[in-house]
Amino acid sequence: MKRKKVIDILESSKVGDNIIVKGWVRAFRSNRFIQINDGSTIKNIQAVIDFEHFDDSLLKRISIASSVSVSGEIVDSQGAGQSIEIKVNSIEIIGDANPEEVQKTVMQPKKHSLEFLREQSHLRFRTNTFGAVFRIRHALAFAIHKFFNDRGFYYIHTPIITGSDAEGAGEMFKVTNLDLLNLPITDDGVIDYKKDFFGKPVNLTVSGQLEAELGAMGLGQVYTFGPTFRAENSNTSRHLSEFWMIEPEVAFSDLIDNMDLTEEFLKYLIKYILENHSDDLNFLNDRELNEQKLKPKNERSDLGLKERLEFVVNNKFKRLTYTDAIDILLKSKPFKKKKFKYDIKWGVDLQSEHERYLVEKEFKCPVILTDYPSEIKAFYMRQNDDGKTVAAMDVLFPGIGEIVGGSQREERIDILKSKIIEFNLSEKELHWYLDIRKFGTAPHAGFGLGFERIVMFVTGMTNIRDVIPFPRTPQNADF
Ligand code: ATP
Ligand code: MN
Repeated sequence: MKRKKVIDILESSKVGDNIIVKGWVRAFRSNRFIQINDGSTIKNIQAVIDFEHFDDSLLKRISIASSVSVSGEIVDSQGAGQSIEIKVNSIEIIGDANPEEVQKTVMQPKKHSLEFLREQSHLRFRTNTFGAVFRIRHALAFAIHKFFNDRGFYYIHTPIITGSDAEGAGEMFKVTNLDLLNLPITDDGVIDYKKDFFGKPVNLTVSGQLEAELGAMGLGQVYTFGPTFRAENSNTSRHLSEFWMIEPEVAFSDLIDNMDLTEEFLKYLIKYILENHSDDLNFLNDRELNEQKLKPKNERSDLGLKERLEFVVNNKFKRLTYTDAIDILLKSKPFKKKKFKYDIKWGVDLQSEHERYLVEKEFKCPVILTDYPSEIKAFYMRQNDDGKTVAAMDVLFPGIGEIVGGSQREERIDILKSKIIEFNLSEKELHWYLDIRKFGTAPHAGFGLGFERIVMFVTGMTNIRDVIPFPRTPQNADF
C-alpha cells in the first residue's frame, strides 16, 4: 500500500478505508493518542492505539519528534477536535528521537520563542508557525509566477554574478577567487583584477533590473525572480543581506501603467492566499491575536491579520506625489510636536517613521508616493518636465514601510547620458544599457518587490528573519 499524506486523508479518506501514513509525532498522550504531522498541512491526524496489543518497548519509543509509519483503518473519531482518526493496526518507528534531548530542545508542546528557533533551524520547519509561514511563502512564489504567466510576461534569469553596479550604491559583495593573503598588485599599487577569475572586479547582484530592461525591449513584458544581495550594515527587522526580489519590466509603459500593474499584482497575491490558504492563515491570525493580548492596549493593532489583508484587497491605494507628502508631513502633529527623529525637508529622502505616519495615521491604507526629487533616486529614472523630479514610485504598506520601489525609465539617450555623468558613473561600462536607447528606444517601466516583505505582510510576522528559511544578516550566515 502507498502512503497517504495527511492532507489527502483529511480531505478524501472515508470511514473503513485502510491507509498508511508517515510523519513526525507531535504529541503522544495516555499511551493511546498520537498526533502525527507530515508537513502537508497544518493539521495533524490522530492515530489511536490499543496499548494492550503493543509491546511496552515500542510504546516507549513513540516520543515527540520521532518519525513513524502507521497503518490502520479510518474510523469516526470519538473525541472532539477531529471528525476522523486512525485505528492503528501496526506502527513502525522510522527514526527515534532521544527523549532527553527532546526534553531539552525539541518540541515540547510549549511555545518556543522565534529567536530560539532561528538557532535551531531544523526545528523551525516542524513548528506550526513556521510550517504555516513557509507553506504561504511557497504559495506566494507560485502565485507570482501564475500572475505573470497569465498576463503574457516571460520569466527571465538575470545574472547573480555581475560586472555592473545597478544603482551605483556601492553596497555590494565582491566575488573573487584571488588569494586574499597574496593579492596581485599592479605597478600603480592597486589590486590587479586582470588576474582575477573574470579578469575584472565583479559582485553579487543588487538588482536584475538593468538586464531585465534589455529583455523587455525585445520580449515586451518580462520579470525576474531571484536572489539579491546587499552588503549594507543595516540590522533592522526589514533588511536581509540575501533576499529575493521580483522585478517586472514592461515596454511601452509609463508611470501610471506601472502603478496600475503594481496595485493589481499586490492585490492578486494577497487575494490568492486568502482564497487558497485559509488553514495556515487562520492559524497565523489567531497566533497574532494571542500575541496582541500580551501587549499594552495602545500598542495593539486596530485590525487583525485577515482584516488587514481584506482591507488591502478591497481598497484603492492612495496615490500622491512626494512633494504633497512633504506638505502633509510638515503640517502633521508629530512634526509640530517634534516627535519625528529625522528632519523633513524637500529634497531629503523620507525615513521609515515618516512613511509609516503617512500610511498608518494619515491615510490608513497603502500609499503610492511618486515623483521624487531626482538627486535621491537612481540615475535611470525618467526626468519629469519640471526638471527637478523623476517618474519614481514607492509603495508603502502598513507595518512594513517600503514594499515596492519602481519607476518609468529614462528612454531619451541624451538625458540619460547627462545623468550618467551627473551620478559619476561610467558611460563606457554602461554601453550595453545605453544601446536599447540607440536602437528603437521606447518608454518602459518596472518595479522591484522584495519577496520577504510581502511574505511578512501576508503572514503578519514582524521580523524579516522569520519569513526566510535560512536568513543571512550582518555577522550571521549559519547553516
Ligand atoms: P529600503 O528603503 O527599505 O532599504 P530600498 O530603497 O533599498 O529599500 P530598492 O533598492 O528599491 O529598496 O529595492 C526594491 C525592493 O526590495 C524594496 O522595495 C524592498 O521591498 C526590497 N528590499 C530592499 N532592500 C532589502 C533588504 N535589505 N532586505 C529585504 N528586502 C529588501
Ligand atoms: Mn535599502
